[in-house]
Amino acid sequence: MAKIFCVANQKGGVGKTTTTVNLAAGLGKIGQRVLMVDLDPQGNATMGSGIDKRKLKLSVYDVLLESASVAEVRVRSEKCGYDVLGSNRELAGAEVELVDLDHRDQRLKQALAKVADEYDFILIDCPPSLSMLTLNGLCCAHGVIVPMQCEYFALEGLTDLVNTIKQVHANLNKDLQIIGLLRVMFDPRITLQQQVSDQLKSHFGDKVFNTVIPRNVRLAEAPSYGLPGVIFDPSARGSQAFVEFANEMVERIRKM
Ligand code: ADP
Ligand code: MG
Repeated sequence: MAKIFCVANQKGGVGKTTTTVNLAAGLGKIGQRVLMVDLDPQGNATMGSGIDKRKLKLSVYDVLLESASVAEVRVRSEKCGYDVLGSNRELAGAEVELVDLDHRDQRLKQALAKVADEYDFILIDCPPSLSMLTLNGLCCAHGVIVPMQCEYFALEGLTDLVNTIKQVHANLNKDLQIIGLLRVMFDPRITLQQQVSDQLKSHFGDKVFNTVIPRNVRLAEAPSYGLPGVIFDPSARGSQAFVEFANEMVERIRKM
């Protein structure tokens, strides 16, 4: 049975999509069966996995509205080594359309349950908000991976996310936990980043992943080739860090 993880942080530009596609590719490389779900109407994770969001006949929108199954919507990204449940702008409308429907926060969970035995990991790239879309992600997940940059305001935003996760845990999904905080775009030469990193470790202990993702231009270049950095340039420092992170995740789920 797949373990399901949301990559979430309500801030934009913190590295959610980069983390989702590179972790998916890293896990694929070490032999794990992965489904990557793009829950952001921007469709960056879809494009970044080599799937053209403009050409999708069906998307995760159809899954949420129950007009198609995951099996009908998913596509294989051969180059990347994982399956993709893609999204595009259409998904922005789902927020409103779901309002009047039953089990509106459980739609994704119900749909993913039907394919869960085909995967080891299902990774969900969340939009930069604590919206109904993110809630659908949180309701089906076993854990949340929180990518964060080690800067002052990062800690502030974390409180809101932690509170949301606590509420979802208490009311909607008792499996949900923060599996870990992932330090991304890290530059050890910047003193403030070291300080925030130390604060994180003293406050959150082993909830902070051992792996640190460095700031690395190859990771930023890869999406324009429709590839995760891990596939685009496996020898780049950032790519190697994501493969290390994939191994750390496999290790963590053994203990779950
Ligand atoms: P989010 O999904 O949270 O909005 P992204 O993953 O799209 O964030 O990242 C925001 C920007 O930062 C993108 O341009 C991405 O290429 C870049 N980026 C992400 N991680 C790194 C990294 N480790 N090193 C360099 N650039 C990065
Ligand atoms: Mg994103």
